[in-house]
Order: sequence, then structure tokens, then C-alpha cells
Amino acid sequence: MAKTLRLILGDQLNPKHSWFEEVSDDVIYIMMEMRQETDYVKHHIQKLLAFFHAMRSFRDYLVDQGHSVHYLQLSDTRNTQSLTQNLRDFLQSRDIDRLEYQEPDEYRLDQQLLKFAESMTEMKINMVSSEHFFTTRSELQDLLQGKGVLMETFYRSMRKKHEVLMDGDKPLFDRWNFDQENRKAFPKKEEVPPIFGFDYDVSTIFKMIKDEGVDCFGEAEPTHFLWPRDRDDSLHWLKLFLQNALSSFGTYQDAMTDRHWYLFHSRLSFSLNSKMLNPSEVISGAIETWDKNRSEITFSQLEGFVRQILGWREFMRGIYWWKMPEYQSENFFNHQQPLPDFFWTAETKMYCVAKSVEQSLKYAYAHHIQRLMITGNFALLAGIHPDEVDAWYLGIYIDAIEWVEITNTRGMSQFADGGLIATKPYVSSANYINKMGDYCSNCSYDHNKKTGDNACPFNSLYWHFLDKHQQLLKDNARMKLMYRLWDKKNAEEKVSLLEQASIYLNQVDEL
Ligand SMILES: Cc1cc2nc3c(=O)[nH]c(=O)nc-3n(C[C@H](O)[C@H](O)[C@H](O)COP(=O)(O)OP(=O)(O)OC[C@H]3O[C@@H](n4cnc5c(N)ncnc54)[C@H](O)[C@@H]3O)c2cc1C
Ligand code: SF4
Repeated sequence: MAKTLRLILGDQLNPKHSWFEEVSDDVIYIMMEMRQETDYVKHHIQKLLAFFHAMRSFRDYLVDQGHSVHYLQLSDTRNTQSLTQNLRDFLQSRDIDRLEYQEPDEYRLDQQLLKFAESMTEMKINMVSSEHFFTTRSELQDLLQGKGVLMETFYRSMRKKHEVLMDGDKPLFDRWNFDQENRKAFPKKEEVPPIFGFDYDVSTIFKMIKDEGVDCFGEAEPTHFLWPRDRDDSLHWLKLFLQNALSSFGTYQDAMTDRHWYLFHSRLSFSLNSKMLNPSEVISGAIETWDKNRSEITFSQLEGFVRQILGWREFMRGIYWWKMPEYQSENFFNHQQPLPDFFWTAETKMYCVAKSVEQSLKYAYAHHIQRLMITGNFALLAGIHPDEVDAWYLGIYIDAIEWVEITNTRGMSQFADGGLIATKPYVSSANYINKMGDYCSNCSYDHNKKTGDNACPFNSLYWHFLDKHQQLLKDNARMKLMYRLWDKKNAEEKVSLLEQASIYLNQVDEL
């Protein structure tokens, strides 16, 4: 009998997809662990463990439901380690006349499958929606092309279209944006929230990855693996976040502290990006929790959270599909420097960088402000080539999938797209880092010093960056104040700042 083969990619672990509503003898699902996916960039071991663990668990779930699943482990002798070769081999070995796949989120896989489809002239091949996002691939482009590309415009239109936090045509409480109430530093004496993680034994997968010689990095405790493996885990994690952290999410969204590795962030990005959770259910859960607890959870916390998912997440996806593949070679500032070694070792005297890298190596996670205003900020100030910055972010984070990694890294953090995503470069001196966190008090550099012994590198590098890129940035309205401050400095001060920066730039690896 004619059969259909349905491909499930590693980030398509959505048990709620309409594919799985019915069990049919005519349908076989195929899932594969592949070197093509472990090796396209050097990965953190926890990222590989988390995806393979969740994939295997999804396979078991489907089999329990009665579906037929062909699963290739990385170590399987039949595994050619190539997506399309594995597909070709399987299709040739069975009586199958139809292949279906969900739209891939990565351009590279999209192209690979399109080329494959072209080559398989005898086969009926059909791409279906992944039924995950609020928007289609081209929705943002259709909405904003020819107009200003602003996240805020997009976000408001999403709120209206999906009737999220709306009161008729107006935003709830008459305001779209509550940023002013949010983004406070975390008080020194305030107690930190409890840490939660799962406790899985993934040593079999760990051993397989090592035995197969996959080149990876980072730490892992394979007998105490903390990341969620399925939808139930993800829902549990969501519930804990809503109960314990939503009430402080917005307030401390930009805070950084040595005392906690995720503070009030949700750590839902892995569950969302692997599609174990759907963004609309995360948003509805947050709204419901707020509604039942209005005396404890202010509306600004909720709006801040919804903005990240309905706004930023969908915005990044839209930009990705609009601007790829050109986006992957954008380098607005023509930065050419290699990534310093301490991004891989955490061995630097800059305490904020050391701590952010150290926890990334330990947990494959850093929260947004660590990614943006510590490691990203430093890479931009030091003129690191965006390819190297991208490869690092794509490899190290548990949630790093190119559509959301490259737009955040190359776009938001490195301004390599010349300001398509960010309205100004996210650079700062030690002033901001000290204001938003407690790293500076433990650092061997002095955050107050701009030049001389122990002067914080962020200070001189910040002014050096502004000076170097003045031609490119001087007309940016949001940079004018900073350039006025630079212009007000006397020649002597400018020279000593630039000399200090050049000393640091000549010995970046020793900082
Ligand atoms: C340089 C850089 C690289 C990044 N790389 C990635 C990446 O590879 N994958 C990834 O999912 N996010 C990335 N982000 C965005 C953001 O930092 C992470 O989504 C967030 O830190 C994940 O942790 P969380 O789940 O605790 O997020 P929370 O702070 O709890 O936010 C809730 C959810 O909102 C969404 N979200 C928040 N900010 C963004 C954003 N800027 N873009 C898209 N979605 C957002 C995420 O789905 C997140 O889970 C990056 C940011 C920067 C600055
Ligand atoms: S003094 Fe400078 S390098 Fe040290 S923690 Fe503060 S900002 Fe980072």
C-alpha cells in the first residue's frame, strides 16, 4: 500500500501538531540524529544532550500513541549523517510515494530540502506549516516593507491582530509599553529566587556523543541533567515560572547579579524553540496568572513578558526570512578581529565577562542582558568579526537556532546590519554595567577609572568605538547625545582615552 513518510526535525517536537491527531498505518515518521547537525558549528555538549534527549523522548511518546517511527541514532551504522542521504536511502528501501515535512526554521535546512525535492521528480513532496508561530514567514515583510522597520510597530499590530492585552481597539490600560516601570537593578539585600532544574541521567547519550568523536565544548553533569525533555517538563517549568517569577520579570529583566544565573528569567527558550511549548499557550498562561493575581503581579510585568514573545521573537523570525541569505554576511563596521580565547575559557580579569562566560560554559545559558550588554557589548567594542561572534553564540546556547540567534547576534547585538533591528548600537561603558549589576564590586578593574592602571576596559573601548565609527553613526538620532559628550571632551582627554583603548586592543587576550 502507498505510504507517506513524514520528516520530524530536531526542533519540531510539537506533540500538538495536527499530524499526530490520527494514527495511520499509511504514515511513517522519520527522525534522525546527524553529524550534519552536530557539526555545522562547534556546539556546547548540553545543547547536543538536550536536543537528543528531547528527540528520543518525543519518539517514545509517538510510539506510545501508536505511530510508526523510524529513528536513526548518531551511532547507527545505517546513518549516513546527512539529512537528504538518509531520506533518499529510506525512501528507496520502502514502498513510499509521498514525503511531507514541516517548514524548517533554518534557511540552510530549507534550502537543502528544497533542492532534495527538486531532485526527487517521482515523489510527491509537500511542505506543511509547523503550526507554531503567530506569523507566517513573510508576514513581517508584507507588513513593514517600504515603511520603517520598527519592532514596536510590528508588536502593536500583533497585539491588535491576535487581540492580546487589548481593550477593543485600544491597548489595555491605554499604554502599549511599560518599559519605564521595568528594568531596575537587583537590590543587594534582596533574597534571590530558588534554583530549579530537572535531574535526568543522560549518560548513555553523553557516552555516544563522546564515542562518536563529536567536537564539542562546555561542561555537563550527565547524571544530573537539568533541561526539560518533553512537553510535560516544559509545562511544569512554565508553571513554576508563572507562580514564582512572573511577578518580578519586568522589574528585573535587565538586572545582573553574581548571586543567580537566571534570576527571574523563564528559561523557556529551549522548550519554545524546540516547539515542545507553543508561544500562544505561554502568553495565555501568563495572562491567566496575572488575571488571577492582580494584587501581586503588576501589569507591567505581564506586558514586558508578552512583548518578548509576541514582539521580539516573532519580529526576529520575520527579519530572518525577509533578509536571508544576505543577512549572514552583513558586517556594517567591517570588524575583522578574532574572538578572544577567554570566550572559550572564561579566563579574563574582566569579572563581568568571566562570570557571563563561566555560567554559559556551565549551563549553556545566559540571560538576555548578559548576552547583549556583557559578551555582545565587549565583542562589538573590541571589533570582533561578526562571523566569529555568531559561531560562538550559535554553539554555546541551549536555545540557539539560527533564525533567532543570528538576528539577535549579528543584528541586535553587533549592529552588523547597519541598524535594521536595533535603532542604535548596544554599547556601553562600565557605567551601565555597574548600574545594573554587582559584578564591578568584585572586579580587579576599577569601573570608575577610564585610563591608567586597572582602568576598566569597557570605558576607553566605548569612547574608542564612538570615535572610530563617527562617520557611520553621527547621523543616528539616538547617538547624538553621546557624540555631543565626546565632542565636549578636550583634546588631551580624547588622546589619553584613545591611547588607553589602543593598549587594550593590542592585548585583548590578556585583559
Ligand atoms: C547576542 C544574543 C544572542 C541571542 N541568541 C538567542 C538564541 O540563539 N535563541 C533564542 O531563543 N534567543 C536568543 N537571544 C534572545 C534572548 O536573549 C533569549 O531568548 C533569552 O535569553 C532566553 O532565555 P529565557 O527563556 O530565560 O528568556 P526570558 O527573558 O524569560 O524571555 C521569555 C522568552 O521571550 C523570548 N525572547 C526574549 N527576548 C528575545 C529576543 N531578543 N529575541 C527572540 N526571542 C526573545 C524567548 O523565547 C524567551 O524564552 C539572544 C540575545 C542576544 C542579545
Ligand atoms: S569594572 Fe569593568 S570589567 Fe570589571 S566588572 Fe565592571 S564593567 Fe566589567
